[in-house]
Amino acid sequence: MKRSGNFIEMDRKEFFEWLINEKVTRKITHTQEHHTYQPDYDDCGRYSNLQLVLNMSNYHRNTRGWSAIAQHITTFKDGKIVVGERSFNSNPAGIAGHNSGGICMEHVGYFDKGKDSMTEEHKKTIAFVTAALHFKFNLPVNTQTCVYHTWFASKTCPGTNFFGGNTKADAIKYFYPVVEKELAAMKGVSYKPTSAPAPKPAPTSSKVNSSVTHIEVITASLWTYNSPDWDDKAIVVNDGEVFTVTEKIKVGGGYMYKLKSGLYITANEKYVKPTTLKKQSVEKKKELVEVTVNSLWTYASKDWDDKELIVHKGEVFTIVGTYKVGGGTMYKLKSGLYITANTKYVRKLK
Ligand SMILES: [Zn+2]
Repeated sequence: MKRSGNFIEMDRKEFFEWLINEKVTRKITHTQEHHTYQPDYDDCGRYSNLQLVLNMSNYHRNTRGWSAIAQHITTFKDGKIVVGERSFNSNPAGIAGHNSGGICMEHVGYFDKGKDSMTEEHKKTIAFVTAALHFKFNLPVNTQTCVYHTWFASKTCPGTNFFGGNTKADAIKYFYPVVEKELAAMKGVSYKPTSAPAPKPAPTSSKVNSSVTHIEVITASLWTYNSPDWDDKAIVVNDGEVFTVTEKIKVGGGYMYKLKSGLYITANEKYVKPTTLKKQSVEKKKELVEVTVNSLWTYASKDWDDKELIVHKGEVFTIVGTYKVGGGTMYKLKSGLYITANTKYVRKLK
């Protein structure tokens, strides 16, 4: 995290934490995608990200006469994100006549066909930041809630080659699926492309009373489910792993527990048994790791940017490997996911 004047530069993880904690009282109805056109990628080589934002701020305030920089968020070629000066509680100066309720993102570059070729880091950041805003403000992703400047003005912004094109059809085909995938990871569910065949109606399910707060898996491997539907398989969990239960549900002829991660698991006592966290920590002999903070990311690979699911305090997972990743350490879990080994967030059970 770096600061200069009114601005803060962050990476994706820092931005997510910053955004989640930001108090926003204005009603947010949509997000706006813009490219800056000027400055462009060449300028990214000449100035630091913060300097580019300071230059834009000066221009917007001194030449255009606005009270603050036009946008809430600026993203860069190297994947970094800058916020500041334009409060999330004030409308942006992004789209004439369509700023009320908007959050304005300016992506530094000129993304018309044949101009700047967007880097992979930048693509990932744009999808991530958009998804994080839709997560924070609980917005669906559609042509009303996630808009391109060009739909309201005779400009090409955010560029004729922005994620494959700048029309509504392009947004639906190329951009929204990438945003939805990031959003699903933030919600801790598996992403199912909308182009997939429509799912059949889920079996009827109803909540039942239960005093179970945690369960332990007592079979070698066991499916979890994205919804209360035995056909909607998510990820496999393993013997000895412990999960937090939020409710018990009757699904078709059987029962499921809903887990705090949003996933569902069978309640059949052949496969899971009710447990308490304390008992768990003294009984286990193999290598297990327990989450000690309220929510924590897991990763799909040995990459701190490759976030997958959020797990919760008191949940226990089987460790199958330990790896140095960048300046930190990750455990590989039996499910195939990775988690930090930092003792600020997890503890190893003996
Ligand atoms: Zn624009």
